[in-house]
Amino acid sequence: MSIVADMWIGGTRTAGGGSPIAVADPATGDTVDQVPAATAEEVDAAVAAAAEAFGAWRRTDAVERAEHLRRLADAAEAHAGELVALLTREQGKPTLEAQGELRHFLGGLRYYAEAASKLRGSYQELPSQFGPAYGLVVRRPLGVVGAITPWNFPLTLLANKVGPALAAGNTVVAKPAETTPLATLRVAELAGEAGLPPGVLNVVTGTGPVAGEALVAHPGVRRVAFTGQTATGRRIMELAGPALKRVSLELGGSDPTIVLADADLDGAVKGIQIGRYWNCGQACLAPKRAFVQAEVYQAFLDRLVERVGRYEPGPGDTRAEKPKLRIGPLHTAAQRDLLAAQLADAVDRGAKVLVGGEALNGPGHFFQPAVVVDAPEDSRLATEEVFGPILPVWKVEDLDEAIQRANASQYGLGSSIWTRSAVAIDRAIRELDAGVTWVNQLHYGYDELPFGGTKQSGFGREHGQEALEEYTELKSVVVGGLV
Ligand code: NDP
Repeated sequence: MSIVADMWIGGTRTAGGGSPIAVADPATGDTVDQVPAATAEEVDAAVAAAAEAFGAWRRTDAVERAEHLRRLADAAEAHAGELVALLTREQGKPTLEAQGELRHFLGGLRYYAEAASKLRGSYQELPSQFGPAYGLVVRRPLGVVGAITPWNFPLTLLANKVGPALAAGNTVVAKPAETTPLATLRVAELAGEAGLPPGVLNVVTGTGPVAGEALVAHPGVRRVAFTGQTATGRRIMELAGPALKRVSLELGGSDPTIVLADADLDGAVKGIQIGRYWNCGQACLAPKRAFVQAEVYQAFLDRLVERVGRYEPGPGDTRAEKPKLRIGPLHTAAQRDLLAAQLADAVDRGAKVLVGGEALNGPGHFFQPAVVVDAPEDSRLATEEVFGPILPVWKVEDLDEAIQRANASQYGLGSSIWTRSAVAIDRAIRELDAGVTWVNQLHYGYDELPFGGTKQSGFGREHGQEALEEYTELKSVVVGGLV
């Protein structure tokens, strides 16, 4: 039954000593495969392999590193069908969405293959009191990077870390979520087949508290790239702090979306619907709180409810008959229970569910997507991250109220506004407290643009040239002896 069930350390499949972890299909509860639960000693072996590989990898030229990233992307593309099926089985997402995730993964690797040779330093004239000299600022790779990923987008969030880390000359030990390790392991194996030198990319499987903590705390790891919940991010900082490791934290979000009366309403409804319900609502950057101006509030709701009513929960590898839209299961039973509790809290205190909202019976963790109104401002739907297919919508009088309520959140990842007013757009760009503001656009993380949060959504950036620079450190050089 085993598909890929070993870890990938030093360019070889490596069985773990501990008792294995079963990977379950969220649509059926069936076991898809088992993976090792890495011990601290096994994490140590992976870090040692990465440290050994670093010596030669850092000396390769950027063009060669780029070529390796391209070959990895080509190999993954050649196995697209297999990777998409693995993603659907271990994560639950529909095939169409798994294909989208794979495309984004390939795009991320290829973006950093292009960017590898674009890292630049600088030249500086210097005063000559100690003899003629000039200065340079050069960028150096950091060493071994620990890359920890969550279960909602196992591959794209891997590319966001492995792409810039390898392009800049670092080596990586990745720790995928314990419930979604399979596509990641297969990618590492494909990297080996495509000629990536042993030890440059390693994957350890296992639990956060054991394998994850061992990786973050390991003295051989110089930088930690983490995506996951805010509470886990705090723990990562505690562990990385004593050794002053560099950390990037891509954490939770509760993105507001504002719809003003002059918006293209159909465009807004469609963009918000796709953004909120994609991946069964399990996306950090999904619009999770909607603030709609009074004049178009009812029309917005009517159109949204009609569209959301079309979702048909079912296994990701089956299609829905049009006009129904397939939506996969929530990833785990715990995730579904949490969502149901967040909804019940709002309903108990006066919120109305306009469509959906039922946890469905069956072995899979299915949930009928919902639209909710009149949720109290201090309800869990308003204050917590809602990681599932529920959108609470609130009526607002004007832009001032919308911005004030949008910012009344502990989170600050993404945000969006739908309007034709240049003045409103300008205010949203300046005043929304978030790492991203989309204007009349779907919430989506572009490879080209830095992505990340503020407040409890973390710090550091993924994507773009900025992320590449975060995988390097600066060194100033003084060159004398010129006469
Ligand atoms: P978790 O924080 O539970 O887990 C993320 C990863 O960290 C997993 O690999 C997990 O392992 C590991 N981990 C857990 N505990 C520790 C620990 N003590 N030390 C080291 N590693 C640990 O997040 P979820 O998997 O639940 O992911 C969903 C969250 O991710 C949401 O909050 C979402 O918003 C956020 N996210 C943020 C994004 C962004 O860019 N800002 C993008 C996507 C998601 P294990 O699986 O074994 O628990």
